[in-house]
Amino acid sequence: MSECKNCKSKRLKSVINFGKMPLANDFIKSENVKKYDLEIMFCEDCYLVQVKEYINHKIIFNDNYKYFSSYSKTIIDNGKTYFEKITNKLQLDKEASIIEVASNDGYLLSIFKEKGYHNLLGIEPTKSTADSAIKNGINTEIEFFTYDFSKRIHKADLLIANNVLTHVPDIHDFVAAIEYSLNEEGIATIEFQHLYQLIKNKYFELFYHEHFTYLSFITAKSIIESHGLIVFDVEEIQSQGGSLRLYIKKNHNKHYKITDNVSRLVKKEINFGLDHFKVFSNLNSYAEQTRDNIKKYIKDKKTVGKKVVCYGAPAKGTILLNYLNFSKSDIEYTVDKNSNKQNLLMPGTNIPIYSIDVIKKDKPDYIFILPWNIKEEIMEEHQYIKEWGGEFITYR
Ligand SMILES: [Zn+2]
Repeated sequence: MSECKNCKSKRLKSVINFGKMPLANDFIKSENVKKYDLEIMFCEDCYLVQVKEYINHKIIFNDNYKYFSSYSKTIIDNGKTYFEKITNKLQLDKEASIIEVASNDGYLLSIFKEKGYHNLLGIEPTKSTADSAIKNGINTEIEFFTYDFSKRIHKADLLIANNVLTHVPDIHDFVAAIEYSLNEEGIATIEFQHLYQLIKNKYFELFYHEHFTYLSFITAKSIIESHGLIVFDVEEIQSQGGSLRLYIKKNHNKHYKITDNVSRLVKKEINFGLDHFKVFSNLNSYAEQTRDNIKKYIKDKKTVGKKVVCYGAPAKGTILLNYLNFSKSDIEYTVDKNSNKQNLLMPGTNIPIYSIDVIKKDKPDYIFILPWNIKEEIMEEHQYIKEWGGEFITYR
């Protein structure tokens, strides 16, 4: 019998059960990828939404990890906006110690570096991305950020942790590490996908093994504040289909009053019902309906002799294509800008991933966009498909 990874309660209810799924970022050369159970649970006692069976994080975030932030213009632009905002808000001087956890290929710290900040440290467990950061001159430790590890590094005036809180198996150890790593007056900003958006928009394909937990503001706040920290401000931001950015300080830090945004968001989540199972109860039937609609749409196009391919190889695309039970006979190939993913196969479906040039030569009739969070960017960049009557398919 499984128990809640936060409060140990056994009162867990199933939100959606995908059965066996491959790891969403396990891009491979050969056709035999390992699959693992993927079921999402809701805890009726602390409201944490979580994967039922955790896969060892060392298996997921391995040296072969293929997600590189720098390949998305949207992500880079968001990074620049964040830089302007945070350096103003905290009045950060150039000597400030800045640590980024899960710094990936160092794109965000590079923005700080270009503006003259030099006391920078990235912490990133996946060697493939960390090496890319190091090559670009960003000081990076190739490690998982844990409480034990935090004792070995200097302290931060600004600690940044984007899209990592939901990726850690032991969320309490991770938050304790943040508390330990902050200077007395230091501030941490944490971004994660917002459960509210995920459920409101029914983004079922954003559930995958890499995301151990799915956080509402109320649950995240309660976990963070059990470690001598205070969430003093929060913003709802666009990234990853709707995320939160939390501003965090130590308990005794007298600067920065708690803003109204905090109580407003708590109220919004309670009104929506994130503290009751009911709000999660129709996700499964919605997912099945969406799956059947997409299947029919694409099969109909193929029946009349049209060629349908995909654009992008994001993690959510892996989940969607597997959920659709698609193979090479349904979608001949996908294309991706990230050269690290090219000439590999989509996990589980074995649909090959090629470079973007292939579309220009092949001139397919329909291009099904998988990374819907950057669909405007993609459609803008590839307007030329209209020249041969090509069309994009989007489902969100
Ligand atoms: Zn719980």
